[in-house]
Amino acid sequence: MRRRKLAIALEAVDGFTEPRPELEQYETSAELASRLLHLADQNDDLGSVVDLGCGTGMLSLGAALLGADSVGVDVDRDALSVAVENAGELDVDGQVEFVRGDVGALPLEAGFDVAVMNPPFGAQDRGADRVFLEAAEDVADVVYSIHNEGSMEFVEGFVDGEMTHAFEAEISIDHRFEFHEEEVRSVPVEVYRIESG
Ligand code: SAH
Repeated sequence: MRRRKLAIALEAVDGFTEPRPELEQYETSAELASRLLHLADQNDDLGSVVDLGCGTGMLSLGAALLGADSVGVDVDRDALSVAVENAGELDVDGQVEFVRGDVGALPLEAGFDVAVMNPPFGAQDRGADRVFLEAAEDVADVVYSIHNEGSMEFVEGFVDGEMTHAFEAEISIDHRFEFHEEEVRSVPVEVYRIESG
């Protein structure tokens, strides 16, 4: 499937019903997901995929559309219910499994070809991104991870493995205030590919 077609298909993925700020729940856009997954496909990284903090499934579902077998893990039961519905909608239920669990104590065996993730940036819980990076390197040979702009030096220093690719992108984050006012802010991010050490 070509990148453009993947992005269009992923527009059908429903997001969080009620995003929980303490879990830093914000979706990866269909456009960014298709870009990240297309790069993974070009690098022949997509085989067995684990999506850490899968939310409503954007990254694991996109990988499935490209032919991969995916497992998504998230702590949030409500997000996982939406993810299961999204899998049915996209007709990839046979290729995706969703598991409830904490990335800090993953209920999965290692041996995945690739981990994909848009982890918490650590704005609410300092160090949350580190837990995700450690878990990803433990269970997968290659990691694609989305971080705040300017995180390259930190991530390169933190991981055991080697960063081989990086590109810039944006994600939209909803800020909800009192009286149901809402502001959508575009946040610059960077996507990294890491070969686990
Ligand atoms: N991967 C999705 C969601 C990204 S938001 C997407 O790209 O659209 C980050 C997700 O990580 C949320 O769904 C949140 O519930 C989950 N999360 C945060 N901390 C977690 C933890 N310790 N273990 C598992 N999931 C966690």
